[in-house]
Amino acid sequence: MDVTTIIEPLNDAQRQAVTAPSGALLILAGAGSGKTRVLVHRIAWQIEVEGLSPQSILAVTFTNKAAREMRSRIETLLNVSAHSMWIGTFHGLAHRLLRRHATEAGLPDTFQIMDTADQLRLIKRVLSALNYDEAKWPAKQVLWHINAQKDEGIRARHTAETGDIYQRTMLKFYRAYEDLCERSGLVDFAELLLRVHELWRDNPAILAHYQQRFQQVHVDEFQDTNTIQYAWLRLLTQDANNLFVVGDDDQSIYGWRGAKIENIYAFQRHYPDHQVIKLEQNYRSSGNILTAANKIIAHNSGRMGKELWTQSGIGEPILLYVAFNEQDEAHFVIERIRAWADKGGARNSIAILYRSNAQSRQFEERLMQAAIPYRVYGGLRFFDRAEIKTTLAYLRLLANRHDDASFERIINTPTRGIGAKALDDIRTLAREQNSSLWSAAIALLQSGQQAARAANALNGFLLLIKQLGDQTAPLALCEKVKIVIEKTGLIAFYEKDKDNKGEEKVENLEELVNAAKHFETASLPDGEENLTELDRFLSHAALESGDMQADAFEDCVQLMTLHSAKGLEFKLVFLVGLEEGLFPSQQSVDDIARLEEERRLCYVGITRAMEQLYLTYSESRQLYGRESYPRPSRFLREIPADTIQEVRMRAQVQRPVASVNIPAKPALLASINQFKTGQKVRHEKFGVGVILQTEGEGKHERVQVKFPEGIKWLMLSYAKLEAV
Ligand code: ATP
Ligand code: MG
Repeated sequence: MDVTTIIEPLNDAQRQAVTAPSGALLILAGAGSGKTRVLVHRIAWQIEVEGLSPQSILAVTFTNKAAREMRSRIETLLNVSAHSMWIGTFHGLAHRLLRRHATEAGLPDTFQIMDTADQLRLIKRVLSALNYDEAKWPAKQVLWHINAQKDEGIRARHTAETGDIYQRTMLKFYRAYEDLCERSGLVDFAELLLRVHELWRDNPAILAHYQQRFQQVHVDEFQDTNTIQYAWLRLLTQDANNLFVVGDDDQSIYGWRGAKIENIYAFQRHYPDHQVIKLEQNYRSSGNILTAANKIIAHNSGRMGKELWTQSGIGEPILLYVAFNEQDEAHFVIERIRAWADKGGARNSIAILYRSNAQSRQFEERLMQAAIPYRVYGGLRFFDRAEIKTTLAYLRLLANRHDDASFERIINTPTRGIGAKALDDIRTLAREQNSSLWSAAIALLQSGQQAARAANALNGFLLLIKQLGDQTAPLALCEKVKIVIEKTGLIAFYEKDKDNKGEEKVENLEELVNAAKHFETASLPDGEENLTELDRFLSHAALESGDMQADAFEDCVQLMTLHSAKGLEFKLVFLVGLEEGLFPSQQSVDDIARLEEERRLCYVGITRAMEQLYLTYSESRQLYGRESYPRPSRFLREIPADTIQEVRMRAQVQRPVASVNIPAKPALLASINQFKTGQKVRHEKFGVGVILQTEGEGKHERVQVKFPEGIKWLMLSYAKLEAV
């Protein structure tokens, strides 16, 4: 093994960081400047040159994917197995420690980890056991409260029973929840971190053991650590000062989940002999991309301040596409992906990045149609999401009462007082009479063996399904979906969960209505003529959630939210949906701190791109079940005009964009079309409407018209429109 392979591919500042003697070290640098590379090379250096054993290395990263990558990069560099190194996420490493020291940590050996859904279920049990009304005390709010307490290192017993009624009640829930977890041997995510902190704090011998063992502690993405994570690092390294952290204040994007940018300052206070190294050369992105990123982030206040430069040329201009609507946006992106792949570009060097998970569906569908393999990271694929699956289960049961899996899934979702006992009875009866759960439920009800309350609840459910069946039978698919999400109470159920993504679930449900609407108009594939629309839709959804998912090793296009893109890089990046109210998000536009976090997110997004960056926004968007005409994102205006060019796909013209005034209309085409925007027209079915946009020419000319009953796209060669 030759030391030069470790330090050769580094610039001076990077080399200084990699070879610095053991001690507290902070690498503060912008995106793509080689922070992660430095971290990996430093570990290799310590093993190879300083003779540290791989076992004495601890490295914390943000995702499992990043941890795997780090491990394999070290293995490649050193040509040894990194198996014995502790590389992982905070949660993963904490879990490992707790398995080793369960008893000392006060846990049974058999303790189980709960995910957020399990945790929520437990909290609901607590609320009902204490006789609290969930309408007034939403379980999700309680969950957020408890997790936030844990992230701050606070136990129920640390909290005095002072404060207002809200705080006292939350404390009561927290205490009861802790008891229940304790009794059932369950540990939630936040608990993992808190337990390890307490384990170390209260067991000096154990702490000393790990302090000795981990001679070097490394942390990537340090700007996004929260209070308890930092406290954890501090315990482990306070005596030896052997903490090496890399981070970028401009990429702090988890403030909403308790991350503390202040940890960067705390580090500097707590380790007075620390050294700070700044890296300023960016190796990732070409010039235009980097300039845009630098200029956008300069709009934030209170930055630690750093500017990146690159040796590579200005590269390609950033390309902006203004779409007519979200389908057009997806269509454009997929065309460009195809062109890239045709030129031999690898698919996994392409990423589509979006602000909100609900945006992924349009792209997923287009990619599927084009038979381009893709993979969605972080967040479930649209049709796999719990709320979507639940709605589909209702639709399935409407199509077939004997679908037991669907029956089980929805019998008590949303909660309607059908308990585990009733479900057990139904299961038993179904087994005995060898029937479906549906038939068994009817039989059970008829037998009159249940207590009145249970019988009522069950009766309510069976009636609901019957009525929904009758009511929706004659309706079009999207009307069916709409009625199901409303009448079953699903919308109301999620709406009440103001915290913890209830809002997002409602949006996803409304997005399902959109999906159904577009499905109706899609052409009928061969061999499916005999199926009902509902059946076709259901099988479409089932296929989409299974087979088409490319496996991890296939060369496929990467789809993810901006949050999950942290630390990654791609040759070709599409940053889509740059619209006010979407990105920046609606909730952030009036709140300067949140707006700045959105801007950092934009900075993260732009700096993922190496060679080519596309930005898109849509002039009309049907998102969350509503049609809107958003304004282009303010972030677009913050990009210098000379780095960006507008693409017109159909008219094939390119023109530069003025930085202060992103044009909001494709004015070019309007002049050669039959109809003009703003003109009034009459349609024999829809009545009088106003033209909003026109697109295409000759027999391909389409217009978007606002009619009293809604907005429609019409092909002029079919729709007979008269000027009014
Ligand atoms: P982020 O803030 O996005 O996490 P980062 O600072 O961690 O970025 P890296 O991912 O380590 O940056 O590096 C960005 C890219 O630049 C990688 O492709 C890396 O291999 C390359 N790179 C870093 N330093 C050098 C160097 N000295 N010479 C050549 N390439 C480099
Ligand atoms: Mg990195």
